[in-house]
Amino acid sequence: MKTKPAPKDLTLIQLFDRFGTDEKARKHLESVLWKGGIVCPKCQCNDQSKFSDIAPNEAAKTRAGLRWCANCKDKFTVTIGTIFEDSHIPLRKWLIAWYLLCSSKKGISSLQLQRLLEIGSYRSALFMAHRIRHALKETGYAEKMTGTIEVDETFVGGTNKGVGGGNRKHLTPVVAMVQRGGEVRSKVMPTVNGANLKQAIRDNVQICSEVHTDANYAYRGLEPKFTHKSVKHCAGEYSRHEGENVVTTASVESFFSLLKRGVVGTFHHVSAQHLPLYLAEFDHRHNCRKMTDGERTDVGLLKAQGKRLIYKTQSQP
Ligand SMILES: [Zn+2]
Repeated sequence: MKTKPAPKDLTLIQLFDRFGTDEKARKHLESVLWKGGIVCPKCQCNDQSKFSDIAPNEAAKTRAGLRWCANCKDKFTVTIGTIFEDSHIPLRKWLIAWYLLCSSKKGISSLQLQRLLEIGSYRSALFMAHRIRHALKETGYAEKMTGTIEVDETFVGGTNKGVGGGNRKHLTPVVAMVQRGGEVRSKVMPTVNGANLKQAIRDNVQICSEVHTDANYAYRGLEPKFTHKSVKHCAGEYSRHEGENVVTTASVESFFSLLKRGVVGTFHHVSAQHLPLYLAEFDHRHNCRKMTDGERTDVGLLKAQGKRLIYKTQSQP
């Protein structure tokens, strides 16, 4: 009998092999963050001859993975300057949480993370998940999107009650821009109006690109800087062929549909304050959707550097 080839994504067994112990998790993190060689997080030195391993010693409280930098004459580990620094949660649990968050299409609730990873409290699991989302958040974009960009706005958040009932009082407006066949950028908006929507487009889309929207009058005035085409949902039009070009907002709508299923089905409640963190999570999964779960996790881990998140209270995990 033929056996099926192992899936490209990480299986539970592969996950266990990779992140089963803190030692393995640390080595994996080192292989991702120091792919091009060790970099001292304290002085940014990358001269490999300056580094030496410090042998772990329980009596002297010397942890495994500690290194000495002869350049700045200080010791460091791979977690210094990352979201993992100073955390009491073991690194293996952190990396499995990253994997779970990066591989679950509709996200994973903090309650489930708490149960699956035996985290001491719900609050610690929530803080952990928020730290990961915070790390995934883009701090800025080097380039504007080009080609055909679908733009749409929606309302998310609040509680299950009243969603879809026309009551938008507790919901938060979100705009998303999807480059056809490419990346998404979504952001919370203070209010939905022409000025805010057009500002978001100007900030993220290269002028002269083609922008597809619905017939919302707020998008009027995008011409002549952009080629603007719209579909009339109210008239039952969802896509229109114009030669080889298809005018539609189907990609951005499917992004919103996944986001809403996550917010309603997985998280149940997302406050306006934390919504940008959830958007970062959904953006990351969309933008790495063609990768395997393992690759999507590693690309996410690269963003863990320089992203410490400190809450005001002392009781962080
Ligand atoms: Zn150094």
